[in-house]
Amino acid sequence: MLVLGIESSCDETSIAIVRDGRQILSVKTYSQIAEHAPFQGVVPEIASRSHLEKINFIYESAMEESGVQPGDLSGIAVANRPGLPGSLLMGAQFARCLSLVYDLPIAPVDHVEAHFYAPCLEGFEMEYPLIGLLLSGGNSAVFEIQDLEDLRILADTHDDALGEAYDKCASMLGLGFPGGPALEALAARCDSSVPLLLPPLLREMPEPRFSFSGIKTAVQKAIRAGADPTTLAYSFQERTVELVLRVLVRCVESSGCQKIVAGGGVLANANLRGRLDELANKAGWTIVYPQSRALCTDNAAMVAALGTRLLSGRKRAGLDFPVSSSRST
Ligand code: AMP
Ligand code: MG
Repeated sequence: MLVLGIESSCDETSIAIVRDGRQILSVKTYSQIAEHAPFQGVVPEIASRSHLEKINFIYESAMEESGVQPGDLSGIAVANRPGLPGSLLMGAQFARCLSLVYDLPIAPVDHVEAHFYAPCLEGFEMEYPLIGLLLSGGNSAVFEIQDLEDLRILADTHDDALGEAYDKCASMLGLGFPGGPALEALAARCDSSVPLLLPPLLREMPEPRFSFSGIKTAVQKAIRAGADPTTLAYSFQERTVELVLRVLVRCVESSGCQKIVAGGGVLANANLRGRLDELANKAGWTIVYPQSRALCTDNAAMVAALGTRLLSGRKRAGLDFPVSSSRST
């Protein structure tokens, strides 16, 4: 089965051609980072216009690299939720055009679920139930994954996503946008025996949940008070990782499931990967996340991987499928 995946939920225009939900023949991604950098965050209007300008070119270069002809395709998978509505609409409309011209079925795909399918492109077999940990620029949440498209939320964020907190704190530290990798590099230069400059997050936590807005204010105050940037970056990383691990432990304990799949751009962080591995080893859990950092951030290959499962189960939509900023449509 050859499936064309389309991802345009935020600031990446990505098209992939994937065989049997496992083998990437081509994935081409245009990142809009430079267009949003002057604003230190994603500007929705700029994002949707940029998708419109780039999507044809990305499609053509992905098709050329894969050597696949449109007539060889079995279907189209397109991320239709959650995300920026204007951005999602660009991918959805492109999918509709291809479907009409080449008579191909469409599987609309939940972007969050697609992140959990990314490890399948590296040989992982999805065996349910699983705990899904998603840490990205727009989402920070933990799910119990019972089956294909059957996800129950165990923990969400009350405010920001972790990637957003990384980016804003990096920006305050003058590290540019998006500053996740730069903040990680700065933190790695810090002596790990230094006292942390920031307090623990959410000391009281009746329900497992994330919250990352308070630490942005704390970082801002510390910068104004003249704190050492390297120690501050290290403290930010330590305090946020601590919260991620605490929330994950609570979710695993409450669900009883000890198999975890993790994804999202923040999983590109080597310190976070190491700490998750350490916790899983100690507790006897299994944890899997994409080894390739390109499969952690937004990409169309993961959309095609999940779409292949949906299309082979004959799950397909008419041209009037909706797009939605939230997971429910
Ligand atoms: P996504 O929303 O999945 O495309 O991921 C983008 C987010 O991941 C941005 O907020 C980035 O700053 C963040 N990110 C990427 N690499 C790293 C890293 N090494 N450490 C922390 N955050 C990162
Ligand atoms: Mg992104």
